[in-house]
Amino acid sequence: VDVTRLSEHFTLDELCHSQTASRLCISNTPSPLIVEALKVTAQGLERVRALCASPIVVSSGYRSRPVNDAVGGSSTSQHMSGQAADITAPGYGTVEELMHLIYSHRDAVGYDQLLQEFVREGIPDSGWVHISFSDKPRQQALVIDHTGTRVYQA
Ligand SMILES: [Zn+2]
Repeated sequence: VDVTRLSEHFTLDELCHSQTASRLCISNTPSPLIVEALKVTAQGLERVRALCASPIVVSSGYRSRPVNDAVGGSSTSQHMSGQAADITAPGYGTVEELMHLIYSHRDAVGYDQLLQEFVREGIPDSGWVHISFSDKPRQQALVIDHTGTRVYQA
C-alpha cells in the first residue's frame, strides 16, 4: 500500500484506488503530471473536510482512460486528469446535505464543477457528490439522475 501523502488527510492510494481496475487488472497509475493535479484536488478535498468537520470517503478519484471507459465515464471526464473525485461524508450527512453544504460555501471551496449524482429518493446511501478543481473554476453546480441533468437549486 502506497501511503504517499497528497495532503494532510489524503493519500495517493486513496485517490487512485479503483475496484474496477483491480477486478479487470487494468493499470491505474498516474503520471507525475497527474499526481500534481491530484495534490490540487486533495487540497480542495481538505477544504470540504474542514467544512464537514468529518472524514471524506473517496469512491473514485483518478481514472486512467481504460478504467474510465470500463466504468462508462464521460470521454472528457476530469477523473482522467486527476482533477475530480466522487465523495461522500457519512459522518456529516446525506449526499444532499453534503451537496448543500459545499454549494453554500462555494467561494471558500472554489470548485470547478459540483455534481450531485444519482441520488435516488427513498434509497439511503444512494449517489455521491462529484467535485472537480481547475485553475479556471467554472463554479458550476448540477444535479444528474435518471431523469437527466439540471442546474442545482439550493
Ligand atoms: Zn465523478
